[in-house]
Amino acid sequence: MKIELDPNSGFCFGVTNAIKMAEDILGDNETLFCLGDIVHNNVEVNRLKDLGLISINHEEYAKLHDTSVLIRAHGEPPSTYEIAKKQNIQLIDATCPVVLRLQDKIERLGKQIFSNGGQVVIYGKHGHAEVVGLIGQTGGKAIVVMDENDLKKVDFNQPIHLFSQTTRKIKDYQEIAAVIRNKMKNPEYLSIHNSICPSVSGREPELKEFAKNHDIIIFVSGEKSSNGKMLFKVCKEANSNAYFVSKPDDINATWFTNMNSVGISGATSTPWWLMEQVAETIKNIKL
Ligand code: SF4
Repeated sequence: MKIELDPNSGFCFGVTNAIKMAEDILGDNETLFCLGDIVHNNVEVNRLKDLGLISINHEEYAKLHDTSVLIRAHGEPPSTYEIAKKQNIQLIDATCPVVLRLQDKIERLGKQIFSNGGQVVIYGKHGHAEVVGLIGQTGGKAIVVMDENDLKKVDFNQPIHLFSQTTRKIKDYQEIAAVIRNKMKNPEYLSIHNSICPSVSGREPELKEFAKNHDIIIFVSGEKSSNGKMLFKVCKEANSNAYFVSKPDDINATWFTNMNSVGISGATSTPWWLMEQVAETIKNIKL
């Protein structure tokens, strides 16, 4: 069996930067807190845990004083920075520059939009850390829409500025934008902002080709990763013989019967070394 690792997969620059910042600090200190898992990949989270990185939730964060906390690439709402100021917490801010730019844009435009009776609508997953950070830029006023059911909260007679969480699928974003446009009394009142990250959207066409070029695709990702789910969907549409795994143990030998070429790909939060381990596991399968 020929096995190929997708050369376009592996960590995006935002995740690479956050992990490097954590590793640099852990080299000098024994432990460091991280607000939320540094990356949606349990295997990588466990590797960094062994180096001393401790994931904490927002409740635990609110009780901290006089310490250092890493902010992961997804970013945080302003309330997190306010707590840090009050409680002498030094933030090591690894918010991805792409997310930071989007936060700034929503914060800046939001003020004008709300003063003109408009609405900020974010197409994204409820409760996702990046989305929570984006809502925070609007003082909680942004409306989160994940599917058509959520559109009940939107007033189609008023101007709408639509943004997407950075890791959504372009086609899904276009579809929800088209539904919103059709419902609007005046479609000119709809502004669609292109806020999907190029590290994710740029991968779609190449990933489709990669998926088509192999008999079977093994997609490696943490289950909580939004871009992992999205990129796996792209694989599955291009090749129905695509399987989602989080670790080498998830591999099922029966998938490979009569298969000549295997493609291994992953999310922007999947470490390259984990894909190599998956490849090694497949190599050792006795058919
Ligand atoms: S997917 Fe894009 S926005 Fe998200 S961390 Fe990576 S580079 Fe940044």
